[in-house]
Amino acid sequence: MFDITPQDPSLLEDGVRFKTILVAGGAGMVGANLIQTLLAQGHRVICLDNLQTGTMANINLFKSDPRYRFVRHDVVRPIKISEPIDEIYDLACAASPPSYQKDPIHTFRTCIDGAMNLLTLAKAKGARVLLSSTSEVYGDPDVSLQSEDCRGRVNTCGPRACYDDGKRAAETLFWEFGAHQGVETRIARIFNSYGPRMHPDDGRVVSNFIMQALRGEDLTICGDGTQTRSFCYVDDLVDGLIRLMASTQKMPVNLGNPGEFTMLELANEVIRKTGARSRLVFWPLPQDDPRHRRPDITRAAEVLGWAPKVPLDQGLDQTIAWFAAGMQAEKPRTQRKGILVPS
Ligand code: NAD
Ligand code: UDP
Repeated sequence: MFDITPQDPSLLEDGVRFKTILVAGGAGMVGANLIQTLLAQGHRVICLDNLQTGTMANINLFKSDPRYRFVRHDVVRPIKISEPIDEIYDLACAASPPSYQKDPIHTFRTCIDGAMNLLTLAKAKGARVLLSSTSEVYGDPDVSLQSEDCRGRVNTCGPRACYDDGKRAAETLFWEFGAHQGVETRIARIFNSYGPRMHPDDGRVVSNFIMQALRGEDLTICGDGTQTRSFCYVDDLVDGLIRLMASTQKMPVNLGNPGEFTMLELANEVIRKTGARSRLVFWPLPQDDPRHRRPDITRAAEVLGWAPKVPLDQGLDQTIAWFAAGMQAEKPRTQRKGILVPS
């Protein structure tokens, strides 16, 4: 398809051709970290985002790079890009429950119309396209370890349905375009991920606990705190997404860290690491909040040679340090002292 000569300016040093990669949702936590890696690998990147939950602060550092450009656009509307595109990452969708529940119909449309528009673009460009689906397709599962064969237990008429069923329908669209429309599709089922560039106030448990501890506020535990989640550090996730995009695997692949923690364990760990004097306060458990989340990553290991490398202990240190640095930078110069950083 490509005419590559030794003088081709599109060749990287190792002889690999660089690609033009569209990252929809690139101003968010996962997207901005992915873009940083793709640019470091020598690729050209178009970041497309409506800035609903993502921020310019997450992507400002890329703007001086001539291989990068930003397009402000909502994926529910048709997408027109003039240049050739090799790969598309569909990361566009608010990931935090409070954010995606603010405008549930828009969230549903983001998942479905957004997937349709990006798949249509992929077909027109001959591009490979990857969906950031979610462990939420498993709903509140009966089994504590979720493999890709798990069919899920999702409430279609609850507050999480706009996201859970939106992503399920997006998977169906991706599978159909892959099976019958000749598009190279990939589906990542991402489990709870965290790290630098999370929005400090987006309501997810990791950012909530860290910001509450750093501000000296009480940590808000929903329910009795015995529900579990498995937390994947964003660098590991980015590595998994890039490997999946490069693979031949068309069926969904779980990407997550199998280390499983209760919310009580997470809260106590954040308090210990920050040295905060915060107490735990208990709030009602939100409706349809899943009891367990733990990925079976056998398929990712077999087909991608992937496993997460960063344990929660280490990832929390880096994330706390990042949030603390952000708080310090926001303070007037005279007040820049006393921020709690991990030991
Ligand atoms: P995020 O909220 O930080 O980023 C999402 C980005 O998408 C933001 O920049 C937002 O402005 C943009 N966006 C939202 N709706 C859009 C629209 N209609 N048009 C254009 N842009 C839009 O979330 P994240 O943690 O970076 O997650 C990225 C993707 O991964 C999401 O699709 C999410 O569903 C999926 N995912 C994330 C997790 C996780 O734990 N982080 C888990 C499962 C799945
Ligand atoms: N949670 C909590 N305190 C908070 C925010 C969330 O105890 O301040 C709980 C929430 O009820 C859920 C878990 O932490 O059981 C993970 O929530 P998050 O919103 O991060 O992700 P998701 O529910 O989508 O897995």
